Amino acid sequence: MYEIIIIGAGSVGTPTAMSLAERGIRTLVIDSGSSAGQGNNKCAIGGIRATHSDQAKVALSLHSLKTFSTWEEAHGDDIGWHMGGYTFVAYTEAISESLQEIIPGQQKAGLNIGWHDSDEIKKLVPGINPNGLLGGTFSPEDGSASPMESCYAFYRHAVKQGAEFHFGETVTSIKKKGTFTITTDKGEYEAAQVINCAGSFAREIGAMVGVDLPVYPDMHEAGITEPVKRFFNPMVVDISRTAGSANYYFYQYSTGQVVFCITPDPPELGKGTEETSVFLPQVARRMVKLYPRLANIKVRRIWRGCYPQTPDGTPILGQAGPEGFFVAAGMCGQGFMLGPGVGEVMARLATDQSTEQDRMVLNAMRLDREFIGTEVLK
Ligand SMILES: Cc1cc2nc3c(=O)[nH]c(=O)nc-3n(C[C@H](O)[C@H](O)[C@H](O)COP(=O)(O)OP(=O)(O)OC[C@H]3O[C@@H](n4cnc5c(N)ncnc54)[C@H](O)[C@@H]3O)c2cc1C
Repeated sequence: MYEIIIIGAGSVGTPTAMSLAERGIRTLVIDSGSSAGQGNNKCAIGGIRATHSDQAKVALSLHSLKTFSTWEEAHGDDIGWHMGGYTFVAYTEAISESLQEIIPGQQKAGLNIGWHDSDEIKKLVPGINPNGLLGGTFSPEDGSASPMESCYAFYRHAVKQGAEFHFGETVTSIKKKGTFTITTDKGEYEAAQVINCAGSFAREIGAMVGVDLPVYPDMHEAGITEPVKRFFNPMVVDISRTAGSANYYFYQYSTGQVVFCITPDPPELGKGTEETSVFLPQVARRMVKLYPRLANIKVRRIWRGCYPQTPDGTPILGQAGPEGFFVAAGMCGQGFMLGPGVGEVMARLATDQSTEQDRMVLNAMRLDREFIGTEVLK
């Protein structure tokens, strides 16, 4: 009998297990993958920002940033952390206004962010296309890390603290009669509480206890270049739309590779993981136009994964359905950066230790909200 069973050892389930085990809670994590982080976690490009328009996301990410940025010092593992900051650039008045409009709210939520004119952005991203550049935001304390190294470091720490992980095991049903009985393709387990951290499959897991979770994955591709000497520091994000694509973003990883990603427009719903021939020409054209210095760098590899999307671009956190059943899902394109913050909120919720800030976050991310509108920087 476990106190808590977590379904999914991904970007969210793994740090949640770590936070629970640190509190001495007897925790089992079940994942169908062969090791931690083999779902969408390993498809993330590693961006970690507290630069959101939603205050609850800012709060979660500020906590995550603390975990990522201090991890090596506290635990000794190199997770590839680099504090290069994030810049959202503007080439149109409309984007400039929408980015500047949300700065006061972001600052109020505790984010270190400011507006910078085009000369300052040119210094931050040397060689960026100056034609029509109006300026951009810069949040210097955001950064990046390796999703695989981070997830594995959280996994090792969780195990050290007493959490158990069962890999290669798929949850097939959940029954509640007093306690929860979780059936997998290999066995049966009992727990007082369950947390659904199943990423792209959160809706199917919710359905096992009669809860309809609006999590509809869509597919995104990413790529990585050969490593070169560092020539820019921040994650560069362009939120303008062109035919076939919305925002795209790229940065230089701690060992020199440029890692990049683009959002198809309209979204491509599904759970597929096969790369397409559309992605690379589409993203390369936009990246080279924005940053001509990228023209001669060689791309080494591309891949495809999913954003577990919700209709409003905000995750679903908290109690849902039968008492003792919790959800930490619908992370959209931000599950890696939100993971450690979500883990702490979920661990406090499951142990009746929620803080006032947790209640603000849980209220903003509750299942019974209306799911209208979308977060500006989703
Ligand atoms: C191309 C791309 C780039 C991205 N870049 C970033 C980024 O820079 N920063 C960022 O924060 N996010 C990024 N993301 C988004 C991020 O990857 C996701 O939001 C995040 O991984 C979701 O975390 P999760 O824990 O909810 O899901 P996952 O990491 O997918 O974990 C869910 C786990 O549940 C397991 N599971 C599911 N069903 C079952 C079952 N029935 N039984 C047992 N186990 C089960 C799966 O095997 C999986 O391991 C990116 C995504 C993509 C595709």
